[in-house]
Amino acid sequence: MSLRYAGRVGTGMNDALLASLRKRLTPLVRPATPLGRQPSGSREGAHWVEPRLVVEVAFTEWTRDGILRHPTLVGLREAKTPREVRREDPMNVAGVVLTNADRVLYPEQGLTKRDLARYYEVVAPLMLPHVADRPLSLVRCPAGTGKACFFQKHWGGRLPEAVDTVAIRERGSQTKPYTVIRDAAGLVSLVQHGVLEFHLWGARADNVEAPDRMVFDLDPAPVVSWERVRAGARALRALLEDVGLESWIKTTGGKGIHVVVPIARRSTWEEVSGFARALAERMAREAPGEYLARASKAARKGKIFVDWLRNTRGATAVAPWSSRARPTAPVSAPIAWEELDRLTSGDQFHVADVPALISRRTRDPWRGMLASKQRLTRSMTARLEA
Ligand code: ATP
Ligand code: MN
Repeated sequence: MSLRYAGRVGTGMNDALLASLRKRLTPLVRPATPLGRQPSGSREGAHWVEPRLVVEVAFTEWTRDGILRHPTLVGLREAKTPREVRREDPMNVAGVVLTNADRVLYPEQGLTKRDLARYYEVVAPLMLPHVADRPLSLVRCPAGTGKACFFQKHWGGRLPEAVDTVAIRERGSQTKPYTVIRDAAGLVSLVQHGVLEFHLWGARADNVEAPDRMVFDLDPAPVVSWERVRAGARALRALLEDVGLESWIKTTGGKGIHVVVPIARRSTWEEVSGFARALAERMAREAPGEYLARASKAARKGKIFVDWLRNTRGATAVAPWSSRARPTAPVSAPIAWEELDRLTSGDQFHVADVPALISRRTRDPWRGMLASKQRLTRSMTARLEA
């Protein structure tokens, strides 16, 4: 373990802090620098002390010589010992080396690639149980929002170390490589490659013919009030409960809400999409002025489209905690059903709000989903059709 000179700080100290620092430092005074030789950039006649105390310093960046630029003293860090101090590598997040880390991806928010990578590092423990080991489709915007983006189903080019692919059969007998990740390094690697949105299959990579998730996407026509969208989510939940299925809810980061239903891997895509369609049609039948089960934009007039087509083989929905490629950097945020009454829009939560949202909560509202063992049966579909 060695010491490195990082500069000197002359601001951020009030009289009280100065007095207490003097008291702490005086007994630690030593005649010469503990760094071996006088570091360049240090002041002639400086008072050196034993390296025992740790302080927190705010600064704007490292200079090329490894010195803090614009340092301000924040305070003593009593709980930390000098041995624990590491020089953070600002180019490395979750073990992934970022290039162009300061590139601004969300100009309205001033969010850089590094900021987004750190966002995913923070949400990884909540996000990965729902995202790891599943085929992904990606929205990539290498130059950020407002610039060219493309929706990518098949990974092309070199694979980063933390990213895998799974070959999936498509129309005919062709197979195509779909992106799969397993950990936080995978999330960050994809951010490094310009990914702003993660979209999921409703099946896991080890058996893509055995769906384990259904997603109902409530897509309101522009005139539909937010209260009607919330009512739609509640109605959907109630119908699912009637047939014996528990559901979870998230914002989309856009205009609507997604209702998610985990199921045991016992059903085919045909059975799953058949159930999803029967549910959407049942909603439309019970309240034809409110809901519609057909994708037609022309027929949507003033209604909410209950998009069940997300539950067909190959369809995707945005992942929980994914950022969206929209100017305000919204995210698709899992919430508890009890929070729905207070939810004000589909894009209420943003990349910048999430650390506070997570630390405010005492538990993950989606935790129960992972333990769910519920099964989809044919009689459930039959009941909706009756
Ligand atoms: P909102 O609440 O605003 O409707 P959403 O996530 O439900 O949000 P979109 O972002 O419009 O809606 O749609 C996302 C889905 O549409 C993706 O999961 C994907 O299946 C599909 N999709 C999105 N962009 C493309 C694209 N460029 N090409 C093909 N499919 C796309
Ligand atoms: Mn939608």
